[in-house]
Amino acid sequence: MEHIIGIDLGTTFSCIAFMEGDTPKVIPNLEGFATTPSVVSFTSSGKMIIGNTALRQAVTNPQNTLYAIKRIMGMKFNAKEIEQFKKRVPYGLTEAENGDVMIEVQSRTISPQELSSIILKYLKKCAESFLGEDISKAVITVPAHFNEHQRQATKDAAKIAGLDIIRVINEPTAACLAHGLNSRKNTKAAVYDMGGGTFDISIVEIEDGVFNVLATSGNTFLGGEDFDNRIADWIKDDFQKETDIDLSSDGLALQRIKEAAENAKRELSFSVESEINLPFILSHKTGSKHIKKILSRKKLEDMTKDLIQETFPFMDKALADCGLESKDIEEVILVGGQTRMPLLKKMITDYFQKQPIEDINPEEIVARGAAIQSEILQKNLSDLVLLLDVTPFSLGIETENRKYTKVIEKNTTIPTKKTMSFTTVEDNQRRVKIHVLQGENENAEENVSLAVFNLVGIGLAPAGVPEIDVTFEINADGLVQVSAKDMETGREQKIEVQPSSGLSAEELNKIIKRSIEEQKKSDAEGIDHGKT
Ligand code: AMP
Repeated sequence: MEHIIGIDLGTTFSCIAFMEGDTPKVIPNLEGFATTPSVVSFTSSGKMIIGNTALRQAVTNPQNTLYAIKRIMGMKFNAKEIEQFKKRVPYGLTEAENGDVMIEVQSRTISPQELSSIILKYLKKCAESFLGEDISKAVITVPAHFNEHQRQATKDAAKIAGLDIIRVINEPTAACLAHGLNSRKNTKAAVYDMGGGTFDISIVEIEDGVFNVLATSGNTFLGGEDFDNRIADWIKDDFQKETDIDLSSDGLALQRIKEAAENAKRELSFSVESEINLPFILSHKTGSKHIKKILSRKKLEDMTKDLIQETFPFMDKALADCGLESKDIEEVILVGGQTRMPLLKKMITDYFQKQPIEDINPEEIVARGAAIQSEILQKNLSDLVLLLDVTPFSLGIETENRKYTKVIEKNTTIPTKKTMSFTTVEDNQRRVKIHVLQGENENAEENVSLAVFNLVGIGLAPAGVPEIDVTFEINADGLVQVSAKDMETGREQKIEVQPSSGLSAEELNKIIKRSIEEQKKSDAEGIDHGKT
């Protein structure tokens, strides 16, 4: 039987796994590493490099080295998070015609979907080389609070890469699966996931082999990179104090500082001191400048403790959403490389008054869970292990006076289907505009706009008489369909909801075609896909 791989497409690192018998196994990349940096770079000759090789040359080619793409997947250019993000990355961003964010590189613009597809294609190639067979199907994971656009963008990226996504699952759910498959006991778990760019907390109930995600909360803009930035700012500020030179506009120096900051942070999870050594950081009229300093674990903790504390209100909220207290949690699962930090482990242990489970590498656990999910789907074991997820946000439509009416409340178990009745506001109104929204705010404009469509041909009637049933359906992947029906005339009108942003089918096909041609060309020219 063809293998279906599990993919954890991470902000900073990605990981893939497959099932070998009953055990999920991580597939190493072409260089033999368990995880691959989610980085794509273009050299001055237009050559594309991926993964470790791309990361290694980020220092010398910052503008053309594209990382943290997951943070902008499915997002609008004018989102306030993009404003923040723009200041942090050395590459350019621009706006697509439909308002989506695009990346500018070497005088061309690329969508986040296409860039992610390059990483996915590389991962597919690693799996094919390792397993010795073609791979066409995968289960992919996304942060629990990814909205509709972000989920769709992830699926589109996989499609461009030639992968058929048989299921999209939430990362914390995958983590639970990786831990829970072997344990048949009934329990309540908290999954604390902090990777490179995102933070998620999920409360999961496991009962007789059934996994039920009771609540999820988190922040798409809080992760390991924020810790790196704190260290980088400290290095930069100290350098300025000592030399009166501001490195803020020196992209190359900043990139080197950031890399050194991350290395020091990683080292400090295992030792109490780390030396930061950056010779020739700047050639200046007063002579070459160097950076050499010691960062202690204590200093790192002082600089970043508040970032860990920032996660606490999300934990309080997730627990409150499902009516639990921290003492009700029996298992704590840590996911993501950043959770290796000793202070983080201690603060989480104190919060839950419980030692976290630590028997699987935190960077691999999600991909392993995705591989297990693929096995469940392939062998139709869903009666053995049921995986119930919840909607991370409420869904509904815009109603009178720009208000928002929820149809499906957040934390509803999916798949789900719900119908709500609406009516007209004017006499003899023949059409209604249905604006589909995702979010919690009572004002329509404060929520994420998913789609707009018109229901036409409503029967002549005074205001408030027609009954228009709006049905929301969310499938097991968390993807949403909305339909509307005029009950007054009895005429049923099915309406397909097209996302108001993201790639259209036409654009997607164009990119797929171009990608196949580029692949052929790169195979012929031997373009580097991550191999050194
Ligand atoms: P992930 O996306 O799960 O691979 O997590 C990536 C994040 O984990 C990055 O911000 C890394 O810097 C961070 N990370 C990896 N190893 C460690 C470590 N030993 N200590 C602290 N953070 C780490």
